[in-house]
Amino acid sequence: MAVRQQINKFIQGIGASPGILIGKAYLIERSKVRLPQKRIQPDQVEEEVKRFLKAIQESRNQLTEIKLKILDPEVRRHSFILDVHVMILDDKMLIQDTVDTIRKKKVNAEWALDLTLEKLDIVFKTIDDEYLRERRSDLHYVSARIFRNLLGKKHDDITRIKGKVIVVAHDLSPADTLQMNLKNVAGFITDIGGKVSHTAILSRSLSIPSVAGLEVATSLINGGDLLIIDGDTGEVVINPTEEVSQSFLERKRRIRSMERDILKYASLPAETRDGVRVHLQANIEMVEEISSVKMHGGEGVGLFRTEILYLNRKDIPTEEEHFQTYRQLAEDLFPATATIRTLDIGGDKFLPNYSSGNEMNPAMGLRAIRFSLKEADIFKVQLKGILRASAYGKLRILFPMISGVEEIRQTKTILEEVRKGLVKERIAFDRGIKVGAMIEIPSASDISDILAKEVDFFSIGTNDLIQYTLAIDRINEHVSYLYKPLHPAILRIIREIVQSAHQAKIPVAICGEMAAEPLYDIVLLGLGLDEFSMNPISIPKVKKVLRMSRFEETRTLVEKLFQFSTASEIESYVRRWMAERFPKDFIQ
Ligand code: PEP
Ligand code: MG
Repeated sequence: MAVRQQINKFIQGIGASPGILIGKAYLIERSKVRLPQKRIQPDQVEEEVKRFLKAIQESRNQLTEIKLKILDPEVRRHSFILDVHVMILDDKMLIQDTVDTIRKKKVNAEWALDLTLEKLDIVFKTIDDEYLRERRSDLHYVSARIFRNLLGKKHDDITRIKGKVIVVAHDLSPADTLQMNLKNVAGFITDIGGKVSHTAILSRSLSIPSVAGLEVATSLINGGDLLIIDGDTGEVVINPTEEVSQSFLERKRRIRSMERDILKYASLPAETRDGVRVHLQANIEMVEEISSVKMHGGEGVGLFRTEILYLNRKDIPTEEEHFQTYRQLAEDLFPATATIRTLDIGGDKFLPNYSSGNEMNPAMGLRAIRFSLKEADIFKVQLKGILRASAYGKLRILFPMISGVEEIRQTKTILEEVRKGLVKERIAFDRGIKVGAMIEIPSASDISDILAKEVDFFSIGTNDLIQYTLAIDRINEHVSYLYKPLHPAILRIIREIVQSAHQAKIPVAICGEMAAEPLYDIVLLGLGLDEFSMNPISIPKVKKVLRMSRFEETRTLVEKLFQFSTASEIESYVRRWMAERFPKDFIQ
């Protein structure tokens, strides 16, 4: 419940989508509906079952309708989440268990569904896993809809939000978000969630600033309060004074002007002042992003994530769909290269018809290359699509989550089979196509000297490498304070990988989020990385910093860093080093 008006109250959350913004709060109150619990007579049982099934059907129709109403293609590409919700409505356990309870216990549908949810909750609670907790909240969003339909209650009408507002919610289901008139949503803030919740991902791709994990936002904020939100730092100020507003606006102006200035660097080569040339590439997942890659000066695509091809549907993409997508990528980017990563399903993304969503520990489960090697037929379809497209431009293939030599050899054997098939069918493809391994598991970095003999290039996936090295679930906000890219262990590991690659005379790229941060890039440059791949928007600022640096100086910096024992000592040293060299460009 909202309390007395707060003045100039700062609360700290997790910056989920960048941007500073001042606006009025629109509070979405999700008071828990009171569920009637009634015993029913035997002759009322079938009527009650019918009422329950009708509420399920209504819920299904509403979700389908929400999906149909989404016209914006950018929003539409996230609508698979609604499919997941529809699938929950088809879940046997949810439906059959509730129907059985109505029949056996002779209770009304609301009570029976509540009992089923209690049972499912017990199952979920025994699992200490962020990913599965996300599925649990999906189940609750769907159940809340069924309850409302059973009770004939209206759903929160958030479709008609008026004016530009900052939406304040305890939690926002992806269905809630997709239903809003997003043109009127200037920003989102939520009590729970983190950087990789569905709503955070959606707000980033729509460039809507957002802050998650604020814990107390809905209890401190009243509808209509004036808010400042900072999607970079995760700060929120309730009813700021004029002075505080001005200081945030000033920071926003500085960032804007820096961004304008930085865009000038997009078309310049990524070369240090002492003549060392590196390659700045983009991480994308849709061909529609190629124009942004070019506008921001990306020299090709260092990571084309292919999961989206599989996620937005119930079936598996055909060879032709793969081929058409990769062909367009190859043609549009030519003469630059695109690196296509084969399916990295599992972890925080799963295929509806495959079991990985039920794993106890999906980040360490049947993920990425493990899934592809197990489901070799699905894998071959993708490989064939990539190889066929390689005749139309410059493509490389990248295999995710390689943990050892057997895996890469097995993978290459399957690739060879597909190549032979194409030769037999006389279908053109690039016979010299380069094949790389993601280095994102500590075992792979430990044997990087051996792996380097098996592939044509390495790409370091620091998002996972940090997760597995430091034992930090990358989507768990409670341990995100431990997620330190400059941890001495990470620096040592990267140094080792680069040495192995260079000894074997193969290039080494980095495609984790770390590469988008100039502070880290200075260190990565000194460590000898050849290619840096990041979200397209970050390319100009990284280019600017690299162009202002001297490679030899960054090498000396890195040598110094190896003398420190903690991530914070390293980070403060790099910050000071940068502040001395790039005072204007280093906004904190
Ligand atoms: C990584 O792990 O750093 C990476 C780039 O892959 P993803 O984030 O898709 O797991
Ligand atoms: Mg990864």
